[in-house]
Amino acid sequence: MCTAEDHPARAAARARTTAGLDARLVRCRACPRLVAWREETARTGRAAFRGQEYWGRPVPGFGPPDAALLISGLAPAAHGGNRTGRMFTGDRAGDLLYATLYELGLASRETVTGRDDGLELYGVRVTAPVHCAPPDNRPTPGERDACRPWLAREARLLRPTLRSVVVLGGFGWQAALPALAEAGWLVPRPRPKFGHGVRTVLAPASPGDPPLTVFGSYHVSQRNVFTGRLTREMLREVLAEAARTAGLPVAE
Ligand code: SF4
Repeated sequence: MCTAEDHPARAAARARTTAGLDARLVRCRACPRLVAWREETARTGRAAFRGQEYWGRPVPGFGPPDAALLISGLAPAAHGGNRTGRMFTGDRAGDLLYATLYELGLASRETVTGRDDGLELYGVRVTAPVHCAPPDNRPTPGERDACRPWLAREARLLRPTLRSVVVLGGFGWQAALPALAEAGWLVPRPRPKFGHGVRTVLAPASPGDPPLTVFGSYHVSQRNVFTGRLTREMLREVLAEAARTAGLPVAE
């Protein structure tokens, strides 16, 4: 159960730093279905990971508190982030994402295994609009909305340095734009449509603040990669463009 004080909107609003936000987030129990699923999955595990202790809690964003580029996915995978406790860590989607960031000079390692593997991201933070693993990788709209204050606050805390966002997948796009609006940017109406390679520039709500460029990319899911909908080159192009837009040095 979640008390009024623990509700994401209140708990997130009290955070003054990304570390403080992460510390509050990992205690969140606002979505009964997702709490039950993440904990059940952690208890039963998967044969391939026998003997490993699952994280089984909300998975916080990962990366420096002064990131210029934010990458926002969908939600942690049951045996990926929900197992390792770090975004995009422990599944093939994450393997592709981090290997591509490494290729671009934005990550310290090509391969990632867990929270203690020493991975560092350079100017990049990875997160999701839903922080708990959902059954079938499908959060409900209600769960998406319940989790929004965490992403909104994260983006707000990053606002002094944040210059671009890459949103992975259509669901993530629908979830991220309202969160970015709450965080202090103006989202046009009607909302820009999702597509791979689309980009939209959000003006700041406060005059004088810098704008934010939002890029769409197909999600790095195994299915998208397997079917060829998303190739490594396609992902690389979007990430490189977003990083350049954010003013980050990119390895050519
Ligand atoms: S999905 Fe988000 S709001 Fe729901 S329990 Fe997890 S962290 Fe809390």
